[in-house]
Amino acid sequence: MSRFWSRLVSQLDPYVPGEQPRVQNLIKLNTNEHPYGPSPRVIEAIAAANNDSLRLYPDPTARALCEAIANYFDLQAEHVFVGNGSDEVLAHVFHALLKQDAPLIFPDISYSFYPVYCGLYEIAYKTIPLDNDLCIRLSDYMPGKAGAVGGIIFPNPNAPTGRGHPLELIETVVAANPDIVVVIDEAYVDFGAVSAASLIKKYPNLLVVHTLSKSRSLAGLRVGYALGHPDLIQGLDRVKNSFNSYPLDRLAQAGAIAAIQDTAHFEQTRQAVIRTREQLTKDLTALGFEVLASQANFIFTRHPQRSGVQLASDLRARNIIVRHFKSPARIANFLRITIGTDEQCAQLVSACRAILADA
Ligand code: PMP
Repeated sequence: MSRFWSRLVSQLDPYVPGEQPRVQNLIKLNTNEHPYGPSPRVIEAIAAANNDSLRLYPDPTARALCEAIANYFDLQAEHVFVGNGSDEVLAHVFHALLKQDAPLIFPDISYSFYPVYCGLYEIAYKTIPLDNDLCIRLSDYMPGKAGAVGGIIFPNPNAPTGRGHPLELIETVVAANPDIVVVIDEAYVDFGAVSAASLIKKYPNLLVVHTLSKSRSLAGLRVGYALGHPDLIQGLDRVKNSFNSYPLDRLAQAGAIAAIQDTAHFEQTRQAVIRTREQLTKDLTALGFEVLASQANFIFTRHPQRSGVQLASDLRARNIIVRHFKSPARIANFLRITIGTDEQCAQLVSACRAILADA
């Protein structure tokens, strides 16, 4: 606390990212990074861009990248907005589109950055409880009194539950709320859910947000994007150009284009993660864990005989880090475990077996 801070900064409750430990030889399953590296074409593209032209500013519109993304989704570049990680894209979405007179709504158990953006941009919000199975209830997102809700956002699959929601549910919500923006945060969609990108041309109130941090193995490059009607994209551009005109550097733009274009590498590595997830789910279930069906590159799991805090610290003592959320209370016994390589997951299962064998 400092007397030099503004009133707003004094009141912020910032997001705490998962730990990036300095210790060597840890099995790091806490921040949903991809266990396999990016496409070799990404490394080549970045190396080729690493030259004297770095003295020049990058293209502020990242036009070539927007075109590559548009091409992948059968859209136009005007439907695409790119930013420095999807966290930055989301920040602009909250500021440009979700700050309305009526409160924004999102699930009570969801990406914990959402309330933080609401604090930063002074956006009123209401959380909607997930049902007892930690699923989104469609009826909670159907319009009630006109003007009561200012916007809707939720991830599909949801985080940290890993639960995917069918495209029909998403389309019903978007179609039923034509006067507000509905944002689907698809950070993990490539690991088993169905993207709503196919609905972009049909619904001008739909915005879909993606990241290259997860299924494209590029958490370190910081590239995310939004897909939506050109009017929504122009709103985002207005905020971006009032904040930082060059959010993506030359290396990030070059690497991201290569990542989007290498569909073979993408397919092969995402399928490997899905296979490992299914095996890990079986192995942990056999040890008595309850594992929620996941469509993401992580699982959400608890064991009836151990608290979440205890399990996380016992795993840490065996050099394995996973993510534990203390609140809300109904998820306090769950762990969110990122899918690693087969070998890392086998080590995790052995560690769990040993922990459970200890009285
Ligand atoms: N959305 C969700 C649901 C996430 O879990 C994350 C990762 N923390 C992000 C967005 C942001 O990812 P990034 O900024 O790396 O694109």
